Amino acid sequence: MKKHYEDLSTPARLLLGPGPSNVPDRVTKAMTCPVIGHLDPVFLAIMEEVQDMLREVFMTENRLTLPVSGTGSAGMEAALVNSIEPGDPVLVCVNGVFGTRMCDIVERCGGVLRKVEAEWGRPIDPGQVRDALEDFDARVVAVVHAETSTGVLQPLEELSSIVHEKDALFLVDTVTSLSGAPVKVDDWDIDVCYSGTQKCLNCPPGLAPITFSPRAVEKLDKRSTPVRSWYLDMSMVQKYWGSDRVYHHTAPISMVYALREALRIVLEEGLEERWERHLKYNRELVRGLEEMGLRMLVEERFRTPMVLSVIVPDSIDDDAVRKRLLDEFNTEIASGLGPLKGKIWRIGIMGISCREEIVQHILSSMKAALFRQ
Ligand SMILES: *Cc1c(COP(=O)(O)O)cnc(C)c1O
Repeated sequence: MKKHYEDLSTPARLLLGPGPSNVPDRVTKAMTCPVIGHLDPVFLAIMEEVQDMLREVFMTENRLTLPVSGTGSAGMEAALVNSIEPGDPVLVCVNGVFGTRMCDIVERCGGVLRKVEAEWGRPIDPGQVRDALEDFDARVVAVVHAETSTGVLQPLEELSSIVHEKDALFLVDTVTSLSGAPVKVDDWDIDVCYSGTQKCLNCPPGLAPITFSPRAVEKLDKRSTPVRSWYLDMSMVQKYWGSDRVYHHTAPISMVYALREALRIVLEEGLEERWERHLKYNRELVRGLEEMGLRMLVEERFRTPMVLSVIVPDSIDDDAVRKRLLDEFNTEIASGLGPLKGKIWRIGIMGISCREEIVQHILSSMKAALFRQ
């Protein structure tokens, strides 16, 4: 007997975790446009628009700016593998899951790793980075801007000047922060900066916007060894996204349509308006949760506006609350990772989910779920 598979049907959830976030209809609709060839002149024009819009959103003039085919982690891997040659000393700031992931990648690309660490839920101390660089001649210093596993937003400007005093490349993960908090690639002198589509950009997961400064491109051009990833080698990928239009791999056509629409939405609203909106509703959400007697993991000045980490009270069962939210309110929030598992909830208000009704919905549904216990 031939097995029968039903038509696909998925629930329309409210995605209020740390990603993926809900996708606006405009973006979904863009993805249903007919697939065309990856060298079709119409598609080439779309690629240029996407690159121009990415430069606006990253606030950069960098020529090498494009979406890597793959999720945020592909952006991370592309950033590191193109910046590191075997034997290069690399300093990574670690205060959560994503800093830890960077360390793993650095070692896989043959980098000589040194870490500067902070407790999960606390930012990295720039003084410790300065001290570490005294006797460690790092070629690259990597840091996560919005550490989604803890809800810490790392201030970047002071770190950037420390890194450049030492002539290293400054590499920053903005997967969660891009378009929800200021990310000023040129003003802050960031050399390699990558993001992801499914957090504040409200696109399905599948592309990783990335940008390289002229300094980072020069280092790439002068490598004495080939990039240790064929797929993510920017010197080859750039030949397709740049003016040569040489085939490397087939662009994920429909995802590029989606990203184009998502970026259009971001720019229609305006970056500053967007940053302010995230701050405003973050504060409102915090106020409401605190009124319910809940406490936040991260102190106010280092909180990411788009992901809030809320301490699970001792008497409360983390899983039961999340299950109730999903079953009764069709709403997804996340638990903690690693050492924070069972200790925090992570609530994401990213892009379109960052608005009054959603804040009120979170507060009333959390109240109901907690009351049951
Ligand atoms: C989500 C995330 C990633 C990884 O992105 P994936 O799309 O899951 O591969 C990397 N860094 C940060 C800070 C993230 O939040």
